[in-house]
Amino acid sequence: MLLICKNSAILISVMELNYKGKTAFVSGAGRGIGKAVALELAKAGCTVLCISKNISSCGKVADEINASGGRAEAWAFDVSKPAEVKDACSHILEKYSAVDIIVNNAGITRDNLLMRMSDEEWDDVISTNLSSCFYVVRNLIRAMVGNRHGRIINIASVSGQAGNTGQANYSAAKAGIIGFTKTLAREFAARNITANVVAPGFIDTDMTAVLPASIIEAAKANIPLKRTGKPDDIAKVCAFLASDEAGYITGQTIAVNGGLYM
Ligand code: NAP
Repeated sequence: MLLICKNSAILISVMELNYKGKTAFVSGAGRGIGKAVALELAKAGCTVLCISKNISSCGKVADEINASGGRAEAWAFDVSKPAEVKDACSHILEKYSAVDIIVNNAGITRDNLLMRMSDEEWDDVISTNLSSCFYVVRNLIRAMVGNRHGRIINIASVSGQAGNTGQANYSAAKAGIIGFTKTLAREFAARNITANVVAPGFIDTDMTAVLPASIIEAAKANIPLKRTGKPDDIAKVCAFLASDEAGYITGQTIAVNGGLYM
């Protein structure tokens, strides 16, 4: 990263993060936060495997990266389906001997008050947001262990830290991600693999765009920084955690939420 001083035109090298030759798996890379993470890692020099449910979205992101001189591939599959994840990961590992960076970002919401929440709303959110992390890591970790190096970043949410009315399913999944990640951190530390959580607050994406304007305004009023976040705010933190320089950070939950939950 270069810092340009306005008045002296001196270039100061602040930090050169190292991602040389790294391959990154980013789920939910078709839109929103995952797209920003994919673009950021590609900019840093990673080959990015852009995963989403529909090829149209991850395909566009991979095309954008390749068109700008980076390296990316689009892979469309449903991360909530163990057989699809197994199949896709075995194809990925045939092509790349190992994945160096995993960003488990794919997620959905199916909000409802607990007394009205259906089994389907509960199961869809748990399988897409939480079980998916287990399926992905289970299939990619052996090769990562063989490499004696790896970075796992799981995207949770402020809802998993603080709870949120209407989100019993989502909060449970996101809190589960935090426990899952701490266990990964302990199990794989000896293999030089770190595992951390990034917990976003309110970020401007398709997921939050569906909320009524009154809810968005009320949310902003509650945020100490008085604004919502951008996908890039999350991507920058993920990129740092994915770098070699973040090698002494593991088992942590980094909140990126404008102060919403401290
Ligand atoms: P988004 O704009 O709705 O994008 C979600 C992405 O996940 C899409 O690319 C989608 O694929 C993919 N996806 C969903 N279900 C999938 C499945 N079963 N298999 C494969 N891919 C799937 O979401 P976002 O707002 O960027 O959120 C990204 C992550 O951050 C989520 O885990 C979310 O819970 C978390 N988060 C978001 C906020 C926020 O305020 N936005 C706050 C806290 C946490 P398609 O493009 O093919 O549909």
